[in-house]
Amino acid sequence: MVLIRPRRLRLSPVMRDMVRETSLERRQLISPLFIKEGISSPEPVPSMPGICQFDLKGGVGEAEAIREAGIKAVLLFGIPSQKDTLASGAYDPNGIIPQSIKAIKDKIPELMVITDVCLCSFMTHGHCGVVAKNNEIENDATLELLAKTALVYATAGADMVAPSDMMDGRVAAIRKTLDQEGFIQTPILSYAVKQASSFYAPFREAAESAPQFGDRKTYQMDYANVREALREAKLDEEEGADILMVKPAGSALDIIATVKNQTTLPVAAYQVSGEYSMIVAASQNGWFDRKQAILESLTAIRRAGADLIVTYFAKEIAEEM
Ligand SMILES: [Zn+2]
Repeated sequence: MVLIRPRRLRLSPVMRDMVRETSLERRQLISPLFIKEGISSPEPVPSMPGICQFDLKGGVGEAEAIREAGIKAVLLFGIPSQKDTLASGAYDPNGIIPQSIKAIKDKIPELMVITDVCLCSFMTHGHCGVVAKNNEIENDATLELLAKTALVYATAGADMVAPSDMMDGRVAAIRKTLDQEGFIQTPILSYAVKQASSFYAPFREAAESAPQFGDRKTYQMDYANVREALREAKLDEEEGADILMVKPAGSALDIIATVKNQTTLPVAAYQVSGEYSMIVAASQNGWFDRKQAILESLTAIRRAGADLIVTYFAKEIAEEM
């Protein structure tokens, strides 16, 4: 008799579950939250079915629902009613983000509030930095404003600040200002690797931050490059980042894995708006199962090495877990 050894492990379904290599848990998920000034009821984002911009009260209610679903943190984005060329709404102590931080922390103190730190949604031109007369981005002038913005958010009670602008030296500038003002314990989640990606398009509708001229390729990274991504991640680590984030996630799994191998910091990944909208659109067409696609995409991001995932599916999938 010829004995054929089974190719797969001789494990029961229970054992297979026990040895599953990658876990996906609610504590690993962060939910984005858009709060907009000057509206009185939620406004759906057409290119992101199921996602809304909330007024302040509605935003607090949504934050409560997110917490009730078992999610521990939100990533807050604010949309101001007024924009200018110095993004003054970003660092106005009474601006939409500081107001939102206070309102959420007041009602749900245990929910971690992470605030995106960028200028684009507060700028009339939609760029992430101060634009000079020749239409170039002024890096150093932008750093000052970013540091000021981060300080205003920390003062309002933010648990963590997340600079997403990609200017050179921003993590160091923010760290220095926070330390000088006594916020030595406020961590920085840095968008360390942010590729210039077509998958951000729906977000720009949600955050109303599309550039009015040019593009962001001068300050975002070429998606063809892994080593450049590593270099940037390393710089952010040296400047004092506490968590490194890679964005987008699904098309950059190798970059998540490489960054994870090269750092001892926690690594986060942002499953961006386009990744969300693709899954939603295909499942709405009946082309695949929504829940299974969400679980698979998030598990793949975890498998690549992300300790934390920012995802628009956080609340929905948490309720399933
Ligand atoms: Zn920006």
